Amino acid sequence: MSEIFDTDVIVIGAGLAGVTAARELGTRGVDTIVLEARDRLGGRLFTEKRLGKYLELGGNWMHWTQPHVWAEVTRYGLEADRLARAEETFWFANGEVCKGDLPGFMQLIDPGMEALVGNAGKLLPRPDLVADSEDFKEADQLTLQQALDALELSDDERQANEAAWVGHCNGPLDQVGYSAALRWTAATSGAWKVMHEASSVYRLKEGNDQLVKSIAGDIKGEIRLNTPVTKIEHDAEGVSVTVEGGETLRARKAILTAPLNILHELDIAPELSEVKREASQTGTASQGVKLWMRVKGPIKPFFAYSTKDHPLSVVRTEFVGEEDAVLVSFGADASRIDVTSIEDAQKALSVWRDDIEILELAAHDWNEDQYAKETWLINRPLAYSQSQAELQRPEGNLHLASGDIANLWAGFFDGAIESGLRVAREVSEQL
Ligand SMILES: Cc1cc2nc3c(=O)[nH]c(=O)nc-3n(C[C@H](O)[C@H](O)[C@H](O)COP(=O)(O)OP(=O)(O)OC[C@H]3O[C@@H](n4cnc5c(N)ncnc54)[C@H](O)[C@@H]3O)c2cc1C
Repeated sequence: MSEIFDTDVIVIGAGLAGVTAARELGTRGVDTIVLEARDRLGGRLFTEKRLGKYLELGGNWMHWTQPHVWAEVTRYGLEADRLARAEETFWFANGEVCKGDLPGFMQLIDPGMEALVGNAGKLLPRPDLVADSEDFKEADQLTLQQALDALELSDDERQANEAAWVGHCNGPLDQVGYSAALRWTAATSGAWKVMHEASSVYRLKEGNDQLVKSIAGDIKGEIRLNTPVTKIEHDAEGVSVTVEGGETLRARKAILTAPLNILHELDIAPELSEVKREASQTGTASQGVKLWMRVKGPIKPFFAYSTKDHPLSVVRTEFVGEEDAVLVSFGADASRIDVTSIEDAQKALSVWRDDIEILELAAHDWNEDQYAKETWLINRPLAYSQSQAELQRPEGNLHLASGDIANLWAGFFDGAIESGLRVAREVSEQL
């Protein structure tokens, strides 16, 4: 007698990976139910009207060199907009604050960038595939700090490069894998300035949630918000998924899109493979802070870089008005600053500028968020070589999709969409 299922595929999580997978399955005639723990779509894509703007408390920037996300921008006719162009740039040299322009700062970091990631295209000629060359594995043993320390740079160049990489990697550089820098740059075929622009300039004018809402709008099946999954049991015939409150749903397959750092906390039977559990337990290097500040205007648009050790290594204007401006800032370690304290933020800002008055702050604590426990994926040394292929491998009828385990732009919206597309195809082919 054939078994009765509630649906063909249960998708756990309505972040970009989950909604993309559900939409794709629907277009292939596969029925889905999406179960999302939060009261909203988007996961780590989180737009909120704060400080008078559509603020991105999670993922922020996207670019046409990111093929999966940009296809969605085109498909849905979404309007991208850029941040205010910096008129001034501040950085540290000889222990003093220097003032110049952005091209001047880019020139300062160029030798370090070229020496560090100029070989990215050679080490990762096909960043869209899982890399397994011996040269890449060797590089993957290093932390980003070790790779930087091995370069012959002046103190000023080193400090400036370190601050720029904190902005990208959102974790202490002695925990970040060198592979993160190589993978990001390989995604733009070795052009580090393009990588820099791709990861920090363009966002959606009306808020990035337009992206996730557009994709979700094309999902044919049900999406249940406020529905945390508490147990997943899989066998040769299908997957049973129990949600808070006790209801159990049964499907032929399930796609789990939870962030890497919380995979090991989920009650899954039979349990995930040892490599998967260890990768999750060890956790990513992503533990930084993203803090928004509304400040008194008028001010000129600016960029500022300090050092890897400051609570905020990078600060810049994102929106500039007559009366006020909104700044966005990043630091390597969220525990170095209280994001609710204007006093703390003012102190951090004063390393460059004591002429700016902070009026209001906004942030989301991703490291303590029980459905994330990380910001954006940044691997530790060797994590990629040891677990990337295995994390993409399904466990019977339980499949994994996530921006954290994508190939090309892992840790980005693009990677989440890539992963959702790939897994939806694999699942529908198997069904
Ligand atoms: C501060 C910050 C800044 C970033 N900046 C950028 C950027 O500038 N550009 C860029 O491209 N990317 C950026 N990112 C990364 C980007 O947001 C993510 O890579 C992408 O959104 C991940 O999508 P996902 O679907 O893989 O995971 P998620 O968005 O985390 O989705 C997973 C979903 O699963 C749900 N879930 C978890 N557990 C359960 C459960 N038990 N039951 C049911 N549901 C569950 C979660 O609530 C969540 O909705 C940033 C992220 C952060 C946090």
